[in-house]
Amino acid sequence: MGSHTKFLLSEDDIPQAWYNIVADLPVPPPAVLHPATQQLIAPGDLEPLFPQALIEQEVSRQREIEIPGEVRRLYQLWRPAPLFRARRWEEALQTPARIYYKYEGVSPAGSHKPNTAVAQAYYNKQAGVRRLVTETGAGQWGSSLAMACNFFGLECQVFMVRVSYDQKPYRRALIETYGAEVFASPSSRTASGRAILEKDPKCSGSLGIAISEAVEVAAQDEQTKYALGSVLNHVLTHQTVIGLEALQQMRLADDYPDVIVGCTGGGSNFAGIAFPFIGRKLRGEQDVRVVAVEPAACPSLTKGRYAYDFGDTAHLTPLVKMHTLGSTFVPPGFHAGGLRYHGMAPLVSHVLEIGQIEAVAVQQLEAFAAGVQFARCEGILPAPEANHAVAGALREAVRCKEEGISRAILFNLCGHGHFDMQAYMDYFAGKLQNYEYPDAEVAMALAGLPSVAA
Ligand SMILES: *Cc1c(COP(=O)(O)O)cnc(C)c1O
Repeated sequence: MGSHTKFLLSEDDIPQAWYNIVADLPVPPPAVLHPATQQLIAPGDLEPLFPQALIEQEVSRQREIEIPGEVRRLYQLWRPAPLFRARRWEEALQTPARIYYKYEGVSPAGSHKPNTAVAQAYYNKQAGVRRLVTETGAGQWGSSLAMACNFFGLECQVFMVRVSYDQKPYRRALIETYGAEVFASPSSRTASGRAILEKDPKCSGSLGIAISEAVEVAAQDEQTKYALGSVLNHVLTHQTVIGLEALQQMRLADDYPDVIVGCTGGGSNFAGIAFPFIGRKLRGEQDVRVVAVEPAACPSLTKGRYAYDFGDTAHLTPLVKMHTLGSTFVPPGFHAGGLRYHGMAPLVSHVLEIGQIEAVAVQQLEAFAAGVQFARCEGILPAPEANHAVAGALREAVRCKEEGISRAILFNLCGHGHFDMQAYMDYFAGKLQNYEYPDAEVAMALAGLPSVAA
């Protein structure tokens, strides 16, 4: 296994194609339904929102989807991303585990999100679209899409969840630096935003509300399309560039993961690292355990129901079957903003349902303690979201120590936390609290789920 710490590929090793797990699933994922009729959605129903090429990817069953040359050339700005072995952390933990992490914080926006942002901007540009509109929570997706739109000469509008708009001015400034417009959501620019503000003028917003606003704007303008930074099949497929590189890098390390760990908000970085490995397992090539780590304050996989639900608050999006806390769920203001979404990607929900992955919930104090320990050993300061993956990997490493077994653990360090220092300051000041979503509130939000005939 050698003594190397860093496993690097050359630009020529950037994958030629993304991996689509649908090709290898033993049971196909449930169909997507029209929000008004609850009938099977036709690809044409999505045309107001997405360009044809992305709709085709959304319903594709092809195993490999070629990465366009122009997208691969943009990937070269930061890809291949490095894979590290966390030797100093292993030593500090006195664990027999071999811990590897794939680091996506080397992208210009500091997370995995540009992997899909540049692809989505490319296909929209090809289709002659003039402007993309989207939502953002903490600003990671907004800044990634703003950057990608600017690369391709597209206009970009971002509805930013009000609480982040007020509390995270640096991400907002980054979005504006890349040339995009930012609006606090709920806003008075849309009917869905105005309806919310009428009821609650001080509403702090949610991803579900911001999605409604962005979808509404896109649906009303022919030259404007919508872009989503997670959840959808094509987004997860674009993110598999992470796991496909990691497969090659584990070969360089002369090792193979026994367990893979990723954090889940909408599920895209988790799918990105895990799906290529799960595909090998499904094809009978090599076994692997896979663990999704979610925040205890927004526990869609561990406490949500697997049911048809809307992706947004105003019920403008298609109905998808997913693990959900209900589209009316407004998560508490904990610090991993990127993990505050009521639902989970249908494909991630499906692989949990068919027993291919496990899910655990982690409290934010455990996540930050793990992230600080990791930073002190490895030097990289993880994003608050990524701290959940670090905590999940730590649990596995501790288990190896207790059992006296040396396993290889691979986790995705999906972003750095340089824009999230207030969260770390609050943590050090003892201001962060654990938050368990009360069962009664989960039940209430779930009671509002749409009833869909089987
Ligand atoms: C957006 C984001 C997430 C959550 O989104 P997923 O689709 O679950 O990956 C996690 N980590 C970081 C750093 C993010 O920016």
